[in-house]
Amino acid sequence: MITRVGDISVVGIFDGIGKEVAREVLKNPEKPDAWECHGELLDPQGNLEFTLGGYLLLAGDRKVLIDTGVGTIRNDKYEGGLFLESLRQQGVEASDITDVLFTHLHFDHVGWATQKGQIVFENATYRVHSADWQYFVESPEAIPGAVRKLEPLIEHLETFDEDRELLPGISSRHLPGHTPGSAIFTISSRSERAVFLGDVVHSIVELTEEGWEAVFDLDPPKAKAVRSNISDELANSGELAAAAHFPQFQLGRIVSSDGLRRWLSN
Ligand SMILES: [Zn+2]
Repeated sequence: MITRVGDISVVGIFDGIGKEVAREVLKNPEKPDAWECHGELLDPQGNLEFTLGGYLLLAGDRKVLIDTGVGTIRNDKYEGGLFLESLRQQGVEASDITDVLFTHLHFDHVGWATQKGQIVFENATYRVHSADWQYFVESPEAIPGAVRKLEPLIEHLETFDEDRELLPGISSRHLPGHTPGSAIFTISSRSERAVFLGDVVHSIVELTEEGWEAVFDLDPPKAKAVRSNISDELANSGELAAAAHFPQFQLGRIVSSDGLRRWLSN
């Protein structure tokens, strides 16, 4: 499905699916039975399904990716592999991509950055917040797998460390918590806007209810505060938003009535 945001087209690029036991990875300490009222979001075994992939933005003569899926991983939780094929279905080859923006550098967002040490989007400039590059690639604690995956990007890489317009109509905002360099991207064209939240939230419940905690967050209190602020902002602005793992890459809005927040997909 293509969403138009002014003159920019947005398409979800499917790579695969991840599965996690919902009550193990997303918890709401204030409500131990919190998942019981969200059965519609889970499979019969209580798993939460994560859509894996990225977003393609067609903006003027640029073809921009926000995140690059999980790659060719196949284990009992995560399975990817379809990213390039999904891109091709939109008439786009890897060599056509002009820019790759990473919301952060977790493995399920950088899968197709490189394959076997080779850069996949050879004509693209890759951009990420410097705090994530530092943490995932340069720090002594960096995980070797992440270093191997990301290090080949160095000559095609531009890190950013302030909130600014990175590309015409596409701006970054640093919201650390999930990872040190987590960033969200706002696209604006004519009078329309949409916000790409990455893993600031993983499931719709985190946007519509207070108090959720995700085991994937590296700084849980900070991530929780960021989530709460973004939820308030989106509820107040009525702006279009997308997260990395919502079902079918749906864009949507938070609507409020009677003190309750709901997610209305576009
Ligand atoms: Zn993720």
